[in-house]
Amino acid sequence: MTDVYQKRTLRAYLQRLSKAQWAWLAGSVSLCIAVVALGWFVEPTRGRTVPPLSTTMSIRDIAPKLGVTGKALARELGLPLDVPKGKPVKELGISQHDLEHAAAHLLGHQSGPLKYYIFAALVLWALVFLTRLGRPDNSPPSERRVWYPRAFYVATLMLAVAMCGFALGKSPNPMEGAVKVLKSMVGLYPSVWEKGIALAFFLMLVIVGNKLICGWACPFGALQELLYSLPFFRRIKRRKVPFFLSNLIRGILFVAMLSLLFGIVGERKGFVVYHYINPFNLFNFEFDQVSVAVTIFAALAVAFVAYRPFCQFICPFGLISWFVERLSLTRVQIDADRCTHCGACTHACPLEAAEHKLAGRIFAADCYSCARCLNICPEDAIAFRPVWPRALKRRTIVPRVQKDHSVRQLEGKP
Ligand code: SF4
Ligand code: SF4
Repeated sequence: MTDVYQKRTLRAYLQRLSKAQWAWLAGSVSLCIAVVALGWFVEPTRGRTVPPLSTTMSIRDIAPKLGVTGKALARELGLPLDVPKGKPVKELGISQHDLEHAAAHLLGHQSGPLKYYIFAALVLWALVFLTRLGRPDNSPPSERRVWYPRAFYVATLMLAVAMCGFALGKSPNPMEGAVKVLKSMVGLYPSVWEKGIALAFFLMLVIVGNKLICGWACPFGALQELLYSLPFFRRIKRRKVPFFLSNLIRGILFVAMLSLLFGIVGERKGFVVYHYINPFNLFNFEFDQVSVAVTIFAALAVAFVAYRPFCQFICPFGLISWFVERLSLTRVQIDADRCTHCGACTHACPLEAAEHKLAGRIFAADCYSCARCLNICPEDAIAFRPVWPRALKRRTIVPRVQKDHSVRQLEGKP
């Protein structure tokens, strides 16, 4: 499979693009730049600093300065949610250092809308690439090795890590979008609606294009994807984690998080498990919790050999968006009439997604729209396309060619 990737050259792909596709390429890139520029224009503040705070102030005085609720500040200071909010915080055992550290952390979670625009632009670009640009017009299946060049994917992932990660910090991000809604339900944020809108934005992107937000735009997802794409440990990578196991672990963690957050289990209502295993802290260089540093290190180390371990085993947005994937309007689809069940796509897929799609499972494993399967099918049976039937009928199907033996050759068979 990797041989196929190596043989695909960007130049060969670009030579095959039609005039209409060049227009799509120029238009979509221009539109994405315009969307990001608009986000930059409406961004109200950049680099918010910690206001002057003193331990003689109470939680009630400090919280509004930080734009959070008293409960959120109490939790950040390691105090019970029902601690007296009118007392000076030094009487609650809080030092100046603890106070400033908590304030910096809370402000680190706040940001303007720019990153939402960047997420939207990256998803828009991915959508155009997968539906309109990846496969040159009128290119027959025999040329499929130049389709969907990895260079575009890798460049987009690097942009996601740089812009949505290190340049703009950890907030907002899809995982946080899911967690903050739940936190606002126990009073850790003033408005459930405000946080609900942020989550709805990310879920809307999942509905527009199947998990493109995870596959192409989430900075920590992108970082794991980049590490997994490195040409090391190929033999180990052939082994896949069974989906039922990874999803079970992800689900159990989510239920445990809800139980602790709502105080159904334990006595610390408002306790957020994900706070202690949040890998997005990497982008703010916040490693003060040992568990966070361990999570980041473990996730990135395992990402060399297993596909997106944090997404598969832990991320709550990964779990929620897995449910929402059923509603995605564009996604990878397999034409059952053309498929000969040769196994090429299941071999190329780093998860069990292609296998489950082939089997027609409604609750198939997560598909991160990574495009690995899109140029692999000898029968031209796979495409990333809209789900509505009319589009399926209109799609130009290149006549079946006699099945070649590239897949067998890749497997070392004559
Ligand atoms: S599942 Fe992975 S890619 Fe998606 S939000 Fe979570 S960390 Fe990011
Ligand atoms: S290879 Fe698997 S995860 Fe990637 S797009 Fe295809 S089905 Fe989805």
